[in-house]
Amino acid sequence: MGRKPKKPIPEEMDIDMDTDTAPKPAKKRVKREPLQLVKGMKDILPAEWKYWDFVFHTVQKVAMTFGFDRIETPVLEPTPLFVRGVGEETDIVEKELYSFTDRGKNDVALRPEFTSGVSRAYIEHGMHNLPQPVKLFSMGPLFRHDRPQAGRYRQFWQFNFEIIGEKNPVLDAQIIQLAWRIYRTIGLKDLTVQINSVGDENCRPQYVSALKEYFEMHENKLCKDCKRRLTRNPLRILDCKEEKCQRVASEAPQFLDHLCDECSVHFKNVLEYLDELGIPYELNASLVRGLDYYTKTAFEIWPSKTSAQSALGGGGRYDNLLEMLGGQSKPAVGFAGGIERVIMAIQEQNIDIPQVRKADVFLAQLSEMAKKKSLKVFEELRDANIDVVEALGKNSLKSQLKVADKLGVRLALIIGQKEAIDGTIIVRDMESGIQEIVDRSKIVRDVQRRLEKAPAAPVVKPQLPLKPERESDFIGADDEADLGGDGRPDIDESNE
Ligand code: AMP
Repeated sequence: MGRKPKKPIPEEMDIDMDTDTAPKPAKKRVKREPLQLVKGMKDILPAEWKYWDFVFHTVQKVAMTFGFDRIETPVLEPTPLFVRGVGEETDIVEKELYSFTDRGKNDVALRPEFTSGVSRAYIEHGMHNLPQPVKLFSMGPLFRHDRPQAGRYRQFWQFNFEIIGEKNPVLDAQIIQLAWRIYRTIGLKDLTVQINSVGDENCRPQYVSALKEYFEMHENKLCKDCKRRLTRNPLRILDCKEEKCQRVASEAPQFLDHLCDECSVHFKNVLEYLDELGIPYELNASLVRGLDYYTKTAFEIWPSKTSAQSALGGGGRYDNLLEMLGGQSKPAVGFAGGIERVIMAIQEQNIDIPQVRKADVFLAQLSEMAKKKSLKVFEELRDANIDVVEALGKNSLKSQLKVADKLGVRLALIIGQKEAIDGTIIVRDMESGIQEIVDRSKIVRDVQRRLEKAPAAPVVKPQLPLKPERESDFIGADDEADLGGDGRPDIDESNE
């Protein structure tokens, strides 16, 4: 039998082969090309972490003051979750979803947004059994196979807030207030809130057909994508980035003229709350957001730079999503902010990253009216750079003061029903327990004076929100129990 011809030895093996018998070949190094990042991905380098930590810390802190609990859902979810939730004919699902079949032949996708996953978790863990609304926040990476450009990545991070289980328009306003508070706490200036209503299942079909009729008359002026959208999803033509489509869209019928009574009243209420809070907003008739699940309020927050191509964050109400995902019908509202975008804005506006600060003042409220007043007082104190926290989601004074105690604040400001009516606030020195009634118009100066005199409180590390222990910790529960005979809040000194 003849010998088999020797297989040629691959070049790389040839280099490493070193036996006693074989003559040593001259050492040859193969130059390997360094591997690089996958297109559209980004490393977060050590020098950048001060920004990331600052944003994480600010988000956690504001989340706590607004009564949110943290939830983190997996990056990988079943593909149908996004198809059903975000919508089959949206860019995010149609063009940008990272979806594949895993080794177990499951249809899975990297999450392109948080709301669908958080809603799935709400249903899967029976959170409808908890006192409503359930307020959840998350921070983490998302994936969209979009065209990468400055500030737009294929893996990017968001902080995300959801309030699930209540339809009151005050919650739409509160989520905008929260987003506004995050950006203001970070130090960003000259932001605008753009807002619109996208109606609901009652009024949207009529609006969409009016829109379709209008765009059909101008079909020859639309881009190729929008011609396709015309039959499949005419709403999306409104937020097309092509200039020629924007020109046509600027004359299109507006949602606000087609809202049903319920959506119209809801929207009016949201705007009134924003007026009350002094948050400036602009009505934007072409703001529809790229996801199908939105109902009623839709909003975005934009940075000042006119050249800015993209929003810092956006959100809105999604009253039908939970049911679409197979859960009980639960109204909900949410907001998501891009972390890379906010860091870009911090750098553009040359904002110094401050040290972690402690909370000095706790603002407690009792009754609906007091809640309204306290929103405004909260803004005034923060505007004066006073580090104030609140637990608006809690209702009983005892549980609010318990939070105040845990945070180690120096002062608690208490607004009960009587104070809300007569324009006063009870100022309680947390160390001595001494209380005084102060005119609301003088509260900022009064607090500043007291903080200057009082010894510094221990630094409080950022904490996660405390879990409410009982139903009475929620808005609307035992207000009455905390009001004394004179209408002033009774503070039970006993340590419960
Ligand atoms: P959206 O869910 O599309 O409204 O996104 C909310 C926010 O996330 C946007 O306003 C951006 O700040 C940010 N964002 C969305 N897509 C990207 C992306 N591809 N890269 C970086 N940030 C993004």
